[in-house]
Amino acid sequence: MTPDKPADFIREIVTEDIKNRKYDSRVHTRFPPEPNGYLHIGHAKSICLNFGIAKEFNGLCNLRFDDTNPTKEEVEYVESIKEDVKWLGFDWDKREYYASDYFEKMYGYAVELIKKGKAYVCDLNADDIREYRGTLTESGKESPYRNRSVEDNLELFEKMRKGEFPDGSRTLRAKIDMKSGNINMRDPVIYRIMHAEHHRTGNKWCIYPMYDYAHCVSDSIEGITHSICTLEFEDHRPLYDWFLDELGVYHPRQIEFARLNLSYTVLSKRRLIRLVQEGHVNGWDDPRMPTISGFRRRGYTPESIRNFCERIGVAKRDSLVDMALLEYCIREGLNKSAQRVMAVLKPLKVVITNYPENQTEELEAINNPEDESMGKRKVPFSRILYIERDDFMENPPNEFFRLAPGREVRLRYAYYITCVDVIKDKTTGEVTELHCTYDPATRGGDSPDRRKVKATLHWVSASHAIKAEVRLYDHLFTKPVPGEESNDFKTDINPKSLELLKQGFVEPSLADAKSGDRFQFERMGYFCVDRDSTNEKPVFNRTVTLKDTWAKIEKAKR
Ligand code: ATP
Ligand code: MG
Repeated sequence: MTPDKPADFIREIVTEDIKNRKYDSRVHTRFPPEPNGYLHIGHAKSICLNFGIAKEFNGLCNLRFDDTNPTKEEVEYVESIKEDVKWLGFDWDKREYYASDYFEKMYGYAVELIKKGKAYVCDLNADDIREYRGTLTESGKESPYRNRSVEDNLELFEKMRKGEFPDGSRTLRAKIDMKSGNINMRDPVIYRIMHAEHHRTGNKWCIYPMYDYAHCVSDSIEGITHSICTLEFEDHRPLYDWFLDELGVYHPRQIEFARLNLSYTVLSKRRLIRLVQEGHVNGWDDPRMPTISGFRRRGYTPESIRNFCERIGVAKRDSLVDMALLEYCIREGLNKSAQRVMAVLKPLKVVITNYPENQTEELEAINNPEDESMGKRKVPFSRILYIERDDFMENPPNEFFRLAPGREVRLRYAYYITCVDVIKDKTTGEVTELHCTYDPATRGGDSPDRRKVKATLHWVSASHAIKAEVRLYDHLFTKPVPGEESNDFKTDINPKSLELLKQGFVEPSLADAKSGDRFQFERMGYFCVDRDSTNEKPVFNRTVTLKDTWAKIEKAKR
């Protein structure tokens, strides 16, 4: 174990188990997604935990698809999950397993439970079962089918498997205790009838095991040592233990931790599916989605996501993590690795009236002041430029230090310029162009007489720049906990979560940028090339702004 890693309660348990030679001091975890949607950042927490612990303790981690519900699962999801786990930097080697591979074994175990008098076929329908189950304050009622003979149960269960009964007409249930204080122990369903095609087993089965049964049996078959899951399964642990004890098979230990909740988004596949299917976003990998694929497309790096997961740690109590912390981690990573370039998102034309027409010069620019080894590049300068429209004000208030009539500012890596004239559209009054003069003595952006200017602006040369579409993203929801007040998370969808800028310009060095490449646009944020990008029309996603709201939050706390 790496000494600088803070030991959390799970790592403490694992350390203790190794010391006590439990499971022969082996460590074997698993990440068990149900292939019914794309993975989100909450899953990343679980992945980092399971694969991370396996790595730190010289153990193994399996990738197991919990594919026991044929109606909601698809091959597309299996493929996306594998891609996302790999991209996050984890490797399951050849241990790619499917709960459906164990269906035969699970069936055999169920037969054993019946023979032990620990399971029975029940003819109650779903509504009746629910009613008989009782409530938190009221104990349950025993099913009239609870005391069927072992022979009858075996025969009926076999007929269930053979497809002799319609969907929902019968179930196999564990015979535990209808008076248990834990509702999960009140004769839970083990198998249900479902005449549905499965993405791997086809039509071989028409009965499917329930999660609680399938999960512990799968863990046992794979020789898992520590079965790490989220807190909502704490009340299911007695059932996990009951199945394995009654079957008398190898018995892993279930450990629960608090799931990740993140502000300004939702982390539930059920809700994410609705956002996709109802068209609130453009697919699972929409850069506004909290999915791994959305974050990848947005420009987040796997290192930063892993770093985030490490920082939030694991705890026993639910909490809400601030989205600003995730953004802080992304920014911190990109600050070191992303090349800085100049791009103008909302252009305003500037004519340098005393600069020779048809002249171009190449000025030297630094690729990343944080890392000299990233080197330098040349950016072309000429008579007609674009600057950011927001960097000019005709009648500036006191606190506005950027360009204004009569004022001098620095153009990054270039010259000092002074605004001498403002050209407007005669009908609308809109500023269409600025006329400026430059001081040739300030080449490179330094003035020999140490004349002070209050602002440094980014710019591009109009005839050299490349036109680009830029997509700015904001939170997908307007509230930290969507739906907290209205009970419908969709009422809090942010109508302004995407701002499309079609008139942007980027410096010519970006001509060869490829999909996925990341940059800092000076003063504007971190951006990455979208997969929609073409040579004719480059498209950039804003990954994250430069403004560090997390630092502000931290400062306010102090
Ligand atoms: P969802 O609620 O999004 O549908 P799930 O728990 O149904 O999630 P699974 O595919 O069953 O999704 O999850 C696979 C693993 O990831 C499980 O071990 C689960 O506990 C874990 N996991 C899911 N969501 C989170 C989360 N928000 N934080 C941490 N772990 C999570
Ligand atoms: Mg689940």
